[in-house]
Amino acid sequence: MYCPKCGSNNSEDAAFCTLCSARLNSEPRYHTAETLAKHPGENTATWSLIWGLVAILVFGPLGIVAIILGNNAKKMGFTGGQATAGIILGWVALILMVISIIMIVILLAVGAPILQEIINSV
Ligand SMILES: [Zn+2]
Repeated sequence: MYCPKCGSNNSEDAAFCTLCSARLNSEPRYHTAETLAKHPGENTATWSLIWGLVAILVFGPLGIVAIILGNNAKKMGFTGGQATAGIILGWVALILMVISIIMIVILLAVGAPILQEIINSV
């Protein structure tokens, strides 16, 4: 291993340069694991976002999945926007579903008597 500071050749497992005592770079060995550990929960957060969109566009109850995944990603220490966006989309999907159920109930409650009057007047 060559010293990054003075360029002298050291043994592969040396932690410090024998000539200038500079710290020898042994990071590349752990680079892959480090890169993976940098964003724990990122995949979970991305899935949260995807499920949130599916919940809004297709099926409201899937918002629960988005909220759970988003919270899991945050528990893993992920601070990116995907987790928050997934949670928000999940809640919006659930709220929209509840509102549409209420609207249908109201429409049936209001609409049924009107329909009855129309039928009676004919
Ligand atoms: Zn050196």
